[in-house]
Amino acid sequence: MPELPEVEVLRRSLEPRLLGRSITGLTVRSGALREPVDEAALRAGTLGRRIEALRRRSKYLLIDLAGGSTLIVHLGMSGRLTVAPGAAPAEPHEHLAFALSGGERLRFRDPRRFGVVFARPTVGLDEDRHFRGLGPEPLAAGFAGGVLAAAARGRRGPVKPFLMDASVVVGVGNIYASESLHRAGVHPARSVARISRARWERLAESVVDVLSQAIAEGGTTLNDFADGAGNSGYFQVSLAVYDRAGEPCPRCAAPVRQSVHAGRSTYYCPRCQR
Ligand code: ZN
Repeated sequence: MPELPEVEVLRRSLEPRLLGRSITGLTVRSGALREPVDEAALRAGTLGRRIEALRRRSKYLLIDLAGGSTLIVHLGMSGRLTVAPGAAPAEPHEHLAFALSGGERLRFRDPRRFGVVFARPTVGLDEDRHFRGLGPEPLAAGFAGGVLAAAARGRRGPVKPFLMDASVVVGVGNIYASESLHRAGVHPARSVARISRARWERLAESVVDVLSQAIAEGGTTLNDFADGAGNSGYFQVSLAVYDRAGEPCPRCAAPVRQSVHAGRSTYYCPRCQR
């Protein structure tokens, strides 16, 4: 499932190929995504408009268009957004495609159909229901331990689900929560009420480091996006604990432990995470 780093890598890879192009057509082969595609609204919000900027908010890719409109794409579980030659045959599960000036097309493929594609006015986007209530971006200036400490005030409960709560900070999924906690030496079950300010700082730094490293490693797959084929898997990051139950902790060599809560696996080192 694409996480924040994959979406950021996608944004960076698409940016040079899309900036300055205009959207000249839209083909909807199947609009039955997680949220049904509103084809009329999508046409009105995209056709004839030049692409001016590519941004990311949480796991949403935001493509700002001339005239104050934004095309928004969420990849869901299996979505893929690639640039292909206009004449290339449609792939399986290519549910919709935007024709671009210059002859290529931006296609959205999604076998499991959990993706979301829609257009909205750029102004006021933060108040749209998809974005309202989202916490700060972990990679934006200003994200630090104080943000986490403030969000934890008056709360209890284990730190791992807290870290994965999008109203606290966006984009920290299960893998990156496990990895960040390991890097910071914080036990995933520790109560948020019992974490010192210094440890919040270390944890915030770890979140930034882990996500930045994943983005940097994902950068090596840029060619996969650039060739327009888009068939490669999501990139594999170097993981210290996630999905490594029984293997030695890279820091202390104690066997990594796995616990399962609410159907979700947590991986941690019982020795160096407290
Ligand atoms: Zn360890």
